[in-house]
Amino acid sequence: MQRVMVLGATGSIGLSTLDVIGRHPDKYRAEVLCANRSVAEMAALCLQHEPQHAVMFCPDAAEELETRLSGRVATRVHAGEAPMVDFAQSPDVDTVMAAIVGFAGLSAALAAAKAGKRLLLANKEALVSAGGLFMTAVREGGALLLPVDSEHNAMFQCLPCDTQARPQMARVEKILLTASGGPFRGRSRDSLHNVTPDEACAHPNWSMGRKISVDSASLVNKGLELAEACWLFDRKPSEIEVVVHPQSIIHSLIRYVDGSVLAQLGQPDMRTPIAYSLSWPDRVSAGVDILDLVKTARLDFESPDLDAFPCLRLAYEAIDVPGGMCAFSAANEVAVDAFLSEKIRFTDIDQTIAATLNCVTLAEPTTLAEVQALDRAAREAAGAFISDVSFR
Ligand code: NAD
Ligand code: MG
Repeated sequence: MQRVMVLGATGSIGLSTLDVIGRHPDKYRAEVLCANRSVAEMAALCLQHEPQHAVMFCPDAAEELETRLSGRVATRVHAGEAPMVDFAQSPDVDTVMAAIVGFAGLSAALAAAKAGKRLLLANKEALVSAGGLFMTAVREGGALLLPVDSEHNAMFQCLPCDTQARPQMARVEKILLTASGGPFRGRSRDSLHNVTPDEACAHPNWSMGRKISVDSASLVNKGLELAEACWLFDRKPSEIEVVVHPQSIIHSLIRYVDGSVLAQLGQPDMRTPIAYSLSWPDRVSAGVDILDLVKTARLDFESPDLDAFPCLRLAYEAIDVPGGMCAFSAANEVAVDAFLSEKIRFTDIDQTIAATLNCVTLAEPTTLAEVQALDRAAREAAGAFISDVSFR
């Protein structure tokens, strides 16, 4: 029985994880559930899964959750980040699903890595911001790091060995990272000035949280995933090629020196990579529709348009600068928040990232405090740029 802690339980990945867990009560148990502030959603999950503990980041939300659950279920309620970090290292937890959105998920994910947990990583921003530190924690803590991001999970499935033992990795010639292209594929940058948050969040294939949906529309997500793949599989950016594949049926491919190209295919449903990361090296059913190739009929491919989507170009530049992707990701988080609350335009997102990268002093952060300081500096720079933009 794997006792699972779900960080970000009320989100898109959290709910899909709990759906898979609920299908296999003989194998997995939801032991600790954590979220930010969504009390009603968390109360429903606690009544359904009866975890030992529930943690709300927001103290008011924790109080309200306690009132709602009182006398109905034995779940103990906690507040703040500290209990998340503690439970991520607890001997009562075997597996940690890191599915908090953004930099906010770093401390708990890092704690799980250091404590040597089976760590299912959806929270790519944590790895992108703290790459070297994160991978060192995984190695030294003896954690088993399993990628949940669909592309990286596909790469993991097509690579010769698990991430820890990779004698044949030298025979990998290229990693082909697929991108759907998002809702604005085929559009020019000029046509994107007035797109709304709802238009940006209307992803053609995937149903996801709003932050990652905007990231997919701007191709920031592919930039983050490029960095994520470099860290996970110990590759240089030049060894990874982004290929736009609008149907999101192939989730990524590995090209070997002998010309073989291995791909993982499946429905665009996160329960497949989640189930694989929960069950690896075994497999379990995930409730996902079968892939009917005849119905799918077409698989198309094209190159990404870096003029229409300059965020991906910025990521290619930032990835070569130590600390660059930490600042990139922080600036993007600030910009996406501002775009979602209609303070800036969609096309101001790349401007914010570029301005931040230009004015923050970049260096590879080697401690958590340094990562947090760089993240903070980038947020301040992005915030200052945005207040100028909002007055335009
Ligand atoms: P979401 O917005 O749907 O959910 C985010 C979750 O994080 C919520 O449960 C929220 O309560 C929680 N949260 C936010 N701040 C918190 C804090 N300070 N403390 C505790 N909990 C907090 O997001 P999502 O789409 O599920 O994405 C989660 C992560 O997974 C992101 O990093 C995203 O990039 C990654 N990811 C998502 C998908 C997807 O299909 N949704 C695919 C690949 C990767
Ligand atoms: Mg992805």
